[in-house]
Amino acid sequence: MVHRVIPLLDQRTHALRSSTLVDGPLADTLGRPLHDLRISVTDRCNFRCSYCMPKAVFNKDYPYLPHSALLSFEEITRVARVAVAQGVRKIRLTGGEPLLRKNIELLIAQLAALRTPDGQQLDLTLTTNGALLARKAQALKDAGLQRLTVSLDGLDDAIFRKMNDVDFPVRDVLDGLEAAHKAGLSDIKVNMVVQRGTNDHEILPMARHFKGTGSTLRFIEYMDVGATNGWRMDQVVPSAEVLQTLQTQWTLHPLAPSAPGETAQRWAYADGSGEVGVISSVTQAFCADCSRARLSTDGKLYLCLFASQGHDLRDLLRGDASDDHLAAALQHIWQGRNDRYSALRAALPADTGTGARRVEMSYIGG
Ligand code: SAM
Repeated sequence: MVHRVIPLLDQRTHALRSSTLVDGPLADTLGRPLHDLRISVTDRCNFRCSYCMPKAVFNKDYPYLPHSALLSFEEITRVARVAVAQGVRKIRLTGGEPLLRKNIELLIAQLAALRTPDGQQLDLTLTTNGALLARKAQALKDAGLQRLTVSLDGLDDAIFRKMNDVDFPVRDVLDGLEAAHKAGLSDIKVNMVVQRGTNDHEILPMARHFKGTGSTLRFIEYMDVGATNGWRMDQVVPSAEVLQTLQTQWTLHPLAPSAPGETAQRWAYADGSGEVGVISSVTQAFCADCSRARLSTDGKLYLCLFASQGHDLRDLLRGDASDDHLAAALQHIWQGRNDRYSALRAALPADTGTGARRVEMSYIGG
């Protein structure tokens, strides 16, 4: 895979060194703050979901990153610390499958120890396919993880095995969820990517299963991320349709967002048994208040899930850059941001801008 990178250790280095650091939250060219940092800790996964890492592409010949290319836990924590000083309040570990990264709980402990400039804890969470969760939940909680998102695309074992394409049983993910609850992880979200003709008939069984359990189910529109999943619009089930399906069974009331820039629209069951959410990344773009940056497994900062270019921070981390230099680089990158791919999607060809391929979600972090 070819990754386009915007070098920072070039003629701009001098400008970065001498630029004045903004005191307080950063804003991009559209006035959006930098609030969330998603960190991909590995580009490998133990599932081969066809919408994300199709087997035909992500096979034994795929050029996964060598270990030396991965940011170390110390390097990740350093970027996070600098980003927190510049406004980041939420960190999500993702991948690839983050629980495959050896000793991930050590990284969680390092990130959990970070504090905002006014001494507050960060909102620290992780997205997993749940395959290793039953084994890992207690260690994650003990290390300081507060919240968790588990991806689960259906309860029907045959469908689930087919979707993960490694014949992984749904029971093991459900056991992982139970272990997470027992370990005391609160505010657990369950994300289901809905694909027409594949698992759309699982919408109601999934809602029934999670209603009243304290885990919040969220339905994600199948997105045209990366360049390998063969995405087609007719496979997308719009959130409006998901809501209509749910409303054949239950009365739902809209809820206000719990945080600015939240990706999910929240709906409460009228009978008080919790909530569900829909993430309408295709039919209702939420670029206008997108406050997320993504740090790839090898230390490139991406400003949009649909980007084809990242900004290399690893060279700075492994060079002689001070924290101030790193902060100046981050500021420079964020202040130049104008990405709003989803808002422009309808008018864009499949490969955007320079003709470069969009990076894969497993590498940039889901
Ligand atoms: N391996 C972890 C997992 O399965 O949750 C974390 C990485 S995964 C890339 C993060 C999330 O992205 C998962 O919920 C996955 O279902 C979602 N995802 C991947 N490809 C997608 C696509 N094309 N459209 C919508 N969601 C997608």
